[in-house]
Amino acid sequence: MDKFDVIIVGAGLAGLSAAYVLAKEGIEVVIIERGDYPGAKNVTGGRLYVNPVRQYLPDIWDDAPLERHVTNEMVTMMSPDNSVSMRFRSDKFDQKPYHSYTVLRATFDRWLAAQAEKAGAMLVTKNRVDDVIKEQGKVIGVVTAGEELGADVVVACDGVLSFVAEKAGMIVPGQPRNFAVGLKEVIELPRTTLEDRFGLTGDEGVAQMFMGSLTQGRFGGGFLYTNKASVSLGMVVGIRDLIERKPGVEVHLLLDEFKERPEIVPLIKGGEPVEYSAHVIPEGGLAGLTPLFGDGILVAGDAAGFSLNMGITVRGMEFAIASGVMAARAIIEARAKNDFSASTLSCYQQFLENSFVMKDFRTFQHTPHVLDNSRFYGYYPQFAGKLLEDLYTVDSGPKAKISDTIRKNLSLGESLRMGKDLLGGLKI
Ligand SMILES: Cc1cc2nc3c(=O)[nH]c(=O)nc-3n(C[C@H](O)[C@H](O)[C@H](O)COP(=O)(O)OP(=O)(O)OC[C@H]3O[C@@H](n4cnc5c(N)ncnc54)[C@H](O)[C@@H]3O)c2cc1C
Repeated sequence: MDKFDVIIVGAGLAGLSAAYVLAKEGIEVVIIERGDYPGAKNVTGGRLYVNPVRQYLPDIWDDAPLERHVTNEMVTMMSPDNSVSMRFRSDKFDQKPYHSYTVLRATFDRWLAAQAEKAGAMLVTKNRVDDVIKEQGKVIGVVTAGEELGADVVVACDGVLSFVAEKAGMIVPGQPRNFAVGLKEVIELPRTTLEDRFGLTGDEGVAQMFMGSLTQGRFGGGFLYTNKASVSLGMVVGIRDLIERKPGVEVHLLLDEFKERPEIVPLIKGGEPVEYSAHVIPEGGLAGLTPLFGDGILVAGDAAGFSLNMGITVRGMEFAIASGVMAARAIIEARAKNDFSASTLSCYQQFLENSFVMKDFRTFQHTPHVLDNSRFYGYYPQFAGKLLEDLYTVDSGPKAKISDTIRKNLSLGESLRMGKDLLGGLKI
C-alpha cells in the first residue's frame, strides 16, 4: 500500500493545525477530509480566543480571515414572558492584539487549509476514512475509498464521536450526558444595518449568550455572534436532557421558537438565512476526555473531547488548534527517534499537561457537574425576571418596600437552595 509519514483524518482546526506544522518541518503529510472542502461540515458558534493559540501558530494571525473582534459581551436570562440582560463593553477588548474574534468556519478552515497546502501538506477532500488498519495492535494506516493507505502515525482529528479513535479501539461510544447537540443559522444583514442594530463601530463585535426558557428547562442555551455582515444565531441542548425530560421536544422547533422571541426578532429582521447546520459538542470536560495516544496513533481536538463549556463561554477551537500543534510536535520528536510506539508518542500527553489545554481542563473539571443543575435553566431566569418585574411595576395602590418585594419573591427554602448552588459555583 501507498505509505506516507503521517495521515491526518479530518480537515478541521485540529487536523489543519497539525498538518501545517508537520508540513513546515518537511514531513510528508496527507489530510483526508470527507467534506467537499475544509469547513464545509464544521460547526462552531463561533468565537475564537486568539491569545492562548497565538504562540502555537505564530505566523498566521495577521492574514487570517477573522470576522469581528469581540468588545461587547452580553448575557440574557429568559423567562417565557420577560428577560434580564447584562451587557459588558470593555476598551481593553478594543485594543490590539485583540483577544477574541468571531469566525465563520467555512471561510477560516478553507484559508487555513490553503496555508497548510502552501507549506507542503496534501489535502484530499470528498473522501471518508472508513476503517483503521492495525498490525499486532499498532495502527499502521487507514482505509478510504476502498484503498489502503499506510503511515508511521495516524492522527484522529475527525471531530466529536471520533470514528477513527473508536475503530482503533481507543474509545467506546460515549454517554449521552457527555454530549450536547447544537443548531446554528448564519443570517446575512447589510453591514451598516448590523452595526446600527448592535451599536457597533468598525470591526467591533458582540457575543451574546442566552439561558432559561429557550431550552424549556433543559441543560443548554442560545448564542448570537456578530460577523462582518451576518449574525451566527443558534442554540445548544444537552443530549441526556433531550432523551430523558418529558414532554420531548425537537431541537429545531426550540430554535424556531427562540427566533420568534421579541428579544431576537428585531435583531434578525430583514436578514437572509444563508447557512443552517447541526453538530454534536463534547460536554464531558476532564472526565469525558478519551485516551490521547496509542501505538501509531494520536487523537486531537473534539475527537479527544477537547471542548469546554465554562458556563459563560464555550471553548473548543483553541483547544483543537493547540492539541493539533502538540500532536505534530510529538510526531516530530518520535521521528527523531524513529520510534512511533505509544511510549514515545506519550510525550503528546506531557506537552498537553504542560500547556493551557490540560491546565484549563483540570481547573474547570467540576463545571459539567455544576452546570448540570436544572435550576439554572428554569428557576433562576424566572426568579430574576419576576423580581425585576415586581420592582419596576408601579400599581394603582401603595408601592411595597424594595426589601419586602425581594422577600416576597425569595422564600427561605429558595434562598437556602440558592446558597447551596452558590457554594457549588465556587468550585468553578
Ligand atoms: C453549535 C456549536 C457552537 C460552538 N461554539 C464554539 C465557540 O463559540 N467557540 C469555540 O471555541 N468552540 C465552539 N464550539 C466547539 C468547536 O466548534 C469545536 O471544538 C471545534 O470545531 C473542534 O475542531 P476539530 O478540528 O477538533 O473538529 P471539527 O471541526 O469537527 O473537524 C472534524 C473534521 O473531520 C472530518 N471528518 C469526520 N469524520 C471523518 C472521516 N471518517 N473521514 C474523513 N473526514 C472526517 C469532518 O468533516 C470535519 O471536517 C462549538 C461547537 C458547536 C457544535
